[in-house]
Amino acid sequence: MGIRARVFLLVFFSLAVSIRIAYVIAERDITSTFEEQTIFQLEKQAYLLLESVNDISKLNSLEASSIANRLGEASDSRVTLILNNGTVVGDSNLSQQEISLIDNHINRKEVQEALLNEKGWSSRFSSTLNQQLLYFAVTDQNIESPNIIRIAVPYTYLDRVIASLNISIFLIGAVAFVVSFIASALIFNYTYRSLSELEDAISTLTINPLKNNEIEPVQIKKTGEFDNVARSISQISEVLKSQVRLIARQRNQFGSVLDDLGEGVIVFNHLSNITYNNDKALKILNLKNDIDNLKIENLEIKAITNLYEIASKKKKANKEFEIDMGNGTTRWVLGSMNQSNSANQFILVVHDITQLRKLDSMRRDFVSNVSHELRTPVSVIRANSETLLSGALDNKKDAEVFSKAILHNAERLSEMVSDLIDLSRIEYGEVKLNFEPVNINRSILGALDSIKGLAAKKEISLFFDEYDDIYVWVDTNAIERILINLLDNAIKYSPQKSSVTVKVLNDTKHLEINVIDSGKGIDDMDKKRIFGRFYRTAQARASDKTGSGLGLAIVKNLAHSLNGDVGVKNSDSGGCNFWFTVPKAK
Ligand code: ADP
Repeated sequence: MGIRARVFLLVFFSLAVSIRIAYVIAERDITSTFEEQTIFQLEKQAYLLLESVNDISKLNSLEASSIANRLGEASDSRVTLILNNGTVVGDSNLSQQEISLIDNHINRKEVQEALLNEKGWSSRFSSTLNQQLLYFAVTDQNIESPNIIRIAVPYTYLDRVIASLNISIFLIGAVAFVVSFIASALIFNYTYRSLSELEDAISTLTINPLKNNEIEPVQIKKTGEFDNVARSISQISEVLKSQVRLIARQRNQFGSVLDDLGEGVIVFNHLSNITYNNDKALKILNLKNDIDNLKIENLEIKAITNLYEIASKKKKANKEFEIDMGNGTTRWVLGSMNQSNSANQFILVVHDITQLRKLDSMRRDFVSNVSHELRTPVSVIRANSETLLSGALDNKKDAEVFSKAILHNAERLSEMVSDLIDLSRIEYGEVKLNFEPVNINRSILGALDSIKGLAAKKEISLFFDEYDDIYVWVDTNAIERILINLLDNAIKYSPQKSSVTVKVLNDTKHLEINVIDSGKGIDDMDKKRIFGRFYRTAQARASDKTGSGLGLAIVKNLAHSLNGDVGVKNSDSGGCNFWFTVPKAK
């Protein structure tokens, strides 16, 4: 039932009850006033009649009947003559025959009262005349044994008054109906306007997006009965606003913490809708657009849909999968999905494990390379030792050859092991570098001095045009090691009687040191790989030149530790031009 109908019923019911009560009171008052007045009139008439009747017991039935008729006519009312034993002897409204059949009246209230107090009255429905009558009785003039003269009038006048009261009440009821209708309409309109203003105010709370933290405190203009409600709503909106701010701040903090962790996080609800994700998740999964509210299958990443299916059954699932980056490369991702017990939602955490995988494969390559490189000298040493033991020791000449081979391979082995140890120490930052201004000419000359014996063996000329005295900000030992490694290779891969040149180029911030040899150069394919561990070109492997393939890896690591770079290009003469840069001292 609507408000309007309720208000109408309430008002109408209240009015109807009030009218009914007023009616009952009015009817009672009118009746009692009427009775009082009528009794007063009847008493007067009764005493008048009394003067015409001395002693009823002395009248015969004919006389009694005619006196009653006469008095009845004169007084325009019903007159009854009753003996003190209750026998009715005359009645103005009944024939003589009817009177003989009438009940004894001794028990009538007015009769009883009159016998006791000389007068009495009562109001009652007369079954004889079939209408409501008001009776008044007095005793006659027989003092010793008084009889009763009774006068009665109907309630006709009262009935008329009550009937007109009924009509009035009916009209008042109709007016009450109309008034109720108008009142309900007015009250409804007033309430509706006040409520709709409250509703508008509340709806701003729901329309304002929580996401953007834009809830404004509700302003309500109207005052009156809804004052308290309006004030409460206003307060709620204030509290809500500060709560939303707090939640937004916490969420941002939480989001940035998640981003800083470097892991992508996506939260799904039980309907597989995405309810939260951080930026990192988009980056790792190479998703361009906002994925809020999308379904899991809309991500179009089969592995994640798979994870969701497994996690829905087993509560948790892990999987490594590849994401196509769209530029010909792929990214390896580890996804872990857990179903949270409390909120019935799924939390997916994604890690970029491309680097880890690369490192893992590098580690595997490294182990296999080390084993491969160590195997050759170890097997040579073993084979030579076995030959010596199986008789070659007895032949001094053979023994010398095998022993030399053992020594040579042992030296190779030791060189390789010490290179490996050095490389790992440099890579792990265990080599303490002592940065200081170093004169570049002095470093180069020092390195050239160290390898001049080697060069002389192959009759290789070393050229270096001393540069201005420029200082670089490096560790002396590190830069000399780089130089010696590059010069050693240059001499190793240059033919007899050729030349090796060192050149220094000046840049604004760096010096570029070039080592140019007269060898056969390096294929473009190999240029990218020779700085890796154990990498040796096919040419180098095929030749009799020994080497571990670790020298250039050490050079690269040292150059980077000195905040420089390293590379190789072919020289104009067809040989190799290895270069490295180091920062100038300020
Ligand atoms: P190695 O001990 O084999 O010389 P390096 O790391 O110093 O190890 O060199 C790696 C590979 O790079 C060598 O095996 C060789 O194939 C190639 N290389 C290095 N320097 C030169 C050069 N000056 N000329 C030609 N090839 C070179």
